[in-house]
Amino acid sequence: MNKPGEKMSLSPQARKLIDQHSRAIDAAAQEAARKLTSAASALGAACTLLNQRARYFGATGEHFSVHEYDGIHVIDALDERLLKAIGAMLGAYLERARRKPSPEATAFLEEKLAPGAKDIPQYPVGYMIHYMLVRAFQLFEPLPQEGSGLELGDLEVAMAHHLRSILQRYVETREKPVTRHFSDVAREYSVVMRLKCGCGAEKFDVKLQALCQTSGGTPYDRLDLQCRDCGGQRSITFNLPHFKDMYRL
Ligand SMILES: [Zn+2]
Repeated sequence: MNKPGEKMSLSPQARKLIDQHSRAIDAAAQEAARKLTSAASALGAACTLLNQRARYFGATGEHFSVHEYDGIHVIDALDERLLKAIGAMLGAYLERARRKPSPEATAFLEEKLAPGAKDIPQYPVGYMIHYMLVRAFQLFEPLPQEGSGLELGDLEVAMAHHLRSILQRYVETREKPVTRHFSDVAREYSVVMRLKCGCGAEKFDVKLQALCQTSGGTPYDRLDLQCRDCGGQRSITFNLPHFKDMYRL
């Protein structure tokens, strides 16, 4: 059923990287969860976890190009794992602390840290959210010295809520099977955008998107691509593990 050159699954090396680094992310998240005594420590833990990305990005780059199919899948899978872990950690802390952010601090951050949760695309891919969070931290850093009249503690609580609302928006699209399906399909185009052709160009046009089935009846998407520079063609496939959930509402 598969055409030559079509790929239905990740290489063993890619799967190994995902397993290994998923465990490292979970261990780092557990470690971080033990030290949450204040909003400041929750922010510190979120920052430490965000930095984990550099490790798996580097490790993945030793085996694959991050512009290739396997490399992109490994990074996306680990980004999702990481973001869910940070979201769970912040959520658990905020529920335990039961501190609502002050409306003043919330409004101040909304102004200073835009874009926030409202500006997230409908089906974001992990790296976009990771970037938003890192950017929010960069913008947050000088704010306590800005003389806004707001207490540092209030700003930190509002920041923790701000980050969590971004993460919640993302996690929602990755949890319910139906939204997960649409989010998987949206990701296909993000993969194409990041793929590089052998000629060095990073511009593939999608010539055809087809819903296919393996001989075992498993649905998958096939995208036929053509490089805009050299005209080279290739096909890539994506598993659609949640396709059938759409009919089980
Ligand atoms: Zn090319």
